Amino acid sequence: MRYQRSSTLFQSAQNVIPGGVNSPVRAFKAVGGTPVFVEKAKGAYLYDEDGNTLIDYISSWGPMILGHAFEPVIEAVKERADKGTSYGMPTELETQIAELVVEMVPNIDKIRMVNSGTEACMSAVRLARGYTQREKIIKFAGCYHGHSDAFLIQAGSGAVTFGAPNSPGVTQGTAKDSLLAQYNDLESVRNHFEQHPEQIAAIIVEPVAGNMGCIPPQAGFMEGLRKMCDAHQTLLIFDEVMTGFRLAKGGAQESLGVTADLMTYGKVLGGGLPVGAFAAREEIMNHLAPEGPVYQAGTLSGNPLAMAAGYAMLTHLNENPQVFSSLENKAKVLEQGMIALLDKKSKPYQINRYGSMMSLHFTDQAVVDFKTAALGNNDHFKTYFHAMLDRGVYLPPSAFESYFLNDALSEKDIDFTLNAFQEYLESF
Ligand SMILES: *Cc1c(COP(=O)(O)O)cnc(C)c1O
Repeated sequence: MRYQRSSTLFQSAQNVIPGGVNSPVRAFKAVGGTPVFVEKAKGAYLYDEDGNTLIDYISSWGPMILGHAFEPVIEAVKERADKGTSYGMPTELETQIAELVVEMVPNIDKIRMVNSGTEACMSAVRLARGYTQREKIIKFAGCYHGHSDAFLIQAGSGAVTFGAPNSPGVTQGTAKDSLLAQYNDLESVRNHFEQHPEQIAAIIVEPVAGNMGCIPPQAGFMEGLRKMCDAHQTLLIFDEVMTGFRLAKGGAQESLGVTADLMTYGKVLGGGLPVGAFAAREEIMNHLAPEGPVYQAGTLSGNPLAMAAGYAMLTHLNENPQVFSSLENKAKVLEQGMIALLDKKSKPYQINRYGSMMSLHFTDQAVVDFKTAALGNNDHFKTYFHAMLDRGVYLPPSAFESYFLNDALSEKDIDFTLNAFQEYLESF
């Protein structure tokens, strides 16, 4: 009823787009019902095709950290578009944004721009393999690093939601080089080092996991990975596609106080345009073509519109670092409000939060890894999701996703959200 037009649009979409969407989680398979088609967005609000206004807690899955249609970003894109949208030749803007990232992020000398987080992670692993001349990588169950073959081994969020953790099309040969460990479990990592001495090129990890709900690293976990990598001449890759420019200027490296060897970025970095990047110290990055032998390229990499958006976004974050604490405070108010309401109920729950990433899990066990995340009651989650949507609050449509707050959210929006949550709980 409220989603008649979205429903019609979804019907048409399904005729010409597989599943009606260009990325699976948008299809609402995990929660049922009709995906909401968006007409436009501004600040903290989505305006859908059915005329509803929704408070947005996904922020395009992270990028819209300052809210939708943030003026300086929009202005930068418009101004740049008049000068042409792509040249396949270098621009000064690419150096400017690279300099800014190198200034904001600890422990990197050089950065290479690509077009998505997937590409960034895929390329970072190739570089790590080329640099170490080893073939295997360790990844963690429930961590998502994009949809490239090597990572589709218990890959969290979308892949889990659709019950295809090991996707058809990924070869045995590829899978055998991706060793699976458990998040927050150093022993599971140590075992791989013992079984495959001098063969592990890299550990890739979400420094704060956000693709199995939000799962912060336990004390000592990241430090332990760092130590093991040092002991085995293995590179530590922080996939900061989600955490980069969200948790702090310097991302999770700064926030956790642990440095990695290679970092991948995306989401916030592009200000809402398709951008990814990977970065490291000079001796690693110089292995990349044309300087070194590891090949990587892209027709639209460093695209001027995308760079203009990203540069405007990062400039604002760099000059207004209070955004990060402001975001965290908003998330805290929401978290504390939800806890206060939930504690009056006897239903089991866990709320995980780190900075402005958080998630609610309907289970009585602490959610610390993929196995415990999978214990959540999905029927409860579905009811919760739709109850909130009916009241004008757009949450991630999967229990395996983190909420991403944006700084356009007002106190009033959070109050509104908590009221909706209270109404939902009353009928729970
Ligand atoms: C979103 C995400 C990716 C993939 O980025 P895309 O731009 O969707 O390809 C990789 N790693 C993490 C941690 C992510 O959250």
